[in-house]
Amino acid sequence: MSWPDAAPAPYAYVIARDGPPEPRGLIADVVLDGAGLYLAAATANLTLRVRLAVAIVPGLPVVPTGVVLMHGPVDASLWESLVAHARAAMPNEVLLAIVAREPLEGEVFIAAAGPYTLVEPQLDQSGTGDWQPQQASGCSVRATPIRDAVVEVHSHHAMRAYFSNTDDRDETARRIYGVLGRLDTPAPELSLRVATGCKPHAVEPVPFTQVFAGELGTFRDVNFGGTPSAADDWPSNPELRSNTRRSRRYHRASLLVSLMLDMAEDLAAIRQLFDARRPDSVPPAAPFWTPR
Ligand SMILES: [Zn+2]
Repeated sequence: MSWPDAAPAPYAYVIARDGPPEPRGLIADVVLDGAGLYLAAATANLTLRVRLAVAIVPGLPVVPTGVVLMHGPVDASLWESLVAHARAAMPNEVLLAIVAREPLEGEVFIAAAGPYTLVEPQLDQSGTGDWQPQQASGCSVRATPIRDAVVEVHSHHAMRAYFSNTDDRDETARRIYGVLGRLDTPAPELSLRVATGCKPHAVEPVPFTQVFAGELGTFRDVNFGGTPSAADDWPSNPELRSNTRRSRRYHRASLLVSLMLDMAEDLAAIRQLFDARRPDSVPPAAPFWTPR
């Protein structure tokens, strides 16, 4: 079966000569701009631009990536309700969603403000409408995803706010995903990203202010160099800690690059700690492995 002639192409390939081009593709647009290649797509509730490849392209403007919510940022009161609900669920994880409508069956109402409603999605294991509470433990949570959720956030309670391999595998719809972490400390963490929901599946970290109105409070937005938390106490050597903090404030070209930087930093910090603890550490022993 061929694509109908009259229908828009599933993907359009366009050049951003004067800022972001008008949407053309039915599924998404692949756009060349001054900083490389990005994917542009939309739902009824948001528009997103996710960087696919970084390259310096002369003569074209750089189009900012990230997400814009069609009905405006989510009210600060819903962010506060979300955090309170995640804290109340501790030590278990919990999955929460923000929808731009009234709650439906299988969605437990938590709070509403303006066009948005905060809900706790329930679990329909058999797909027959037999809704059950979420199945949650300290390291996982199971619920039936909401088809038109704008934002989906789960908590990692005491663990860091990072997207695990399981999250990478499960969180592939076109929406904003978030993780809350270290909720048991005075300096909790937040990580937000937007996913394309199509092929190529790609994600882009987004700052708190693109999603929520109001203040982050004590939370640290881990992808955007927020104030390092007092609980971020590893490595414990102050010199190593300041090195780690400084280098983690790099603007991130891509998730892969940032992950590799983090791994290299961690390995370097571990090696320095080992070296510092060796009795013959002056002069420092030859490194057994040096990430460069
Ligand atoms: Zn997770």
